[in-house]
Amino acid sequence: MMRGVCAGVLVFLCACQSRGESKDAPRPAALPALPWRAAAVAHGGVGSPPDRSDGCRKAVDVALATLAQGADPVDAAVAGVRVLEDDPRFNAGTGARLRLDGKTAQLDAAVMTSAGRFGAVAALENVRHPVQVARAVMDTPHLLLVGEGATAFARAMGEAPYDVTTDESRAKWQDLRRKLLAHDPSLPEGWRDFDYRRAWNFQAAAAEAGLDPEDAGTDTVGVAVRGADGRFGVALSTGGTSLTLRGRVGDVPILGAGLYAGPHGAVAATGTGERILEASLARRSYDRLAAGATAAATAKGAVDELRGKDIGVIVISARELAADADRPMAWAGREEGSGEYTGPAASP
Ligand code: ASP
Repeated sequence: MMRGVCAGVLVFLCACQSRGESKDAPRPAALPALPWRAAAVAHGGVGSPPDRSDGCRKAVDVALATLAQGADPVDAAVAGVRVLEDDPRFNAGTGARLRLDGKTAQLDAAVMTSAGRFGAVAALENVRHPVQVARAVMDTPHLLLVGEGATAFARAMGEAPYDVTTDESRAKWQDLRRKLLAHDPSLPEGWRDFDYRRAWNFQAAAAEAGLDPEDAGTDTVGVAVRGADGRFGVALSTGGTSLTLRGRVGDVPILGAGLYAGPHGAVAATGTGERILEASLARRSYDRLAAGATAAATAKGAVDELRGKDIGVIVISARELAADADRPMAWAGREEGSGEYTGPAASP
């Protein structure tokens, strides 16, 4: 009998070790019994004026209404992101930032489910709803499509050519051009001494862009959704940043960098993509959530890690939703059946 117990303990220890677990590994937090209360949270990108939270509220409402019609949480998140892509005040879809040449807009988007399904696109051009294309990638054998192949895939999925530029995106680029020419100290570190003319890889010459010689223009939109059935979905879309060469890809379409979802919740980030990528921020934040951190502590922990580097995060768990950012940020969250939104006051 004793030998049987010892052998059992040994088998258990070996099983833990073979899975790379130690007996001190944090235990996953317990999940509440189903059904849960459905909820959604949306952000308009770190640096987006908080009074634009009305756009995020609309995205949350559409996500929850889509969920109530029986959609999967990831499709509800996609429906919410489409609302923000169509809102020209945000840097995603219509209104996306122009790249260094003042002409090109390249779009990244991603989706993920709590069952681990993922789809993403990067450097997509002339598409109205990049998040819809990312969702379509999720139904292929691939995880990520980029550049011309991604754009051709979008056309195959029925996305008609669409010009995402607006007067505001052109004005923002003009402002950036002025700062570049003036070597403005508000330019992000790394761009102050970077000779972008040597690296120029746009079709039109730098001289044509008037660049022969702080507003790096970030922002992303994101929606995270909790379903009553215990599933989560998350979606992100961005025009990236203006201070970039053609072909630059940030954190948004990279699994575990800009977004992550699992049985304990979903996390979506916004901010300087290079820093978010280095930190594998969404995946590591999710791990903290799964180990028992509250949604608020998870969001704050992520922001504290990259504080001052332009960072915002939304988090949704089985019980809570939260957001944090190191600059003002438009965002909104709501639970199904509640008329109250969490987040900054929005313009009417
Ligand atoms: N993270 C995005 C990117 O680097 C931009 C943003 O969220 O502000 O492409």
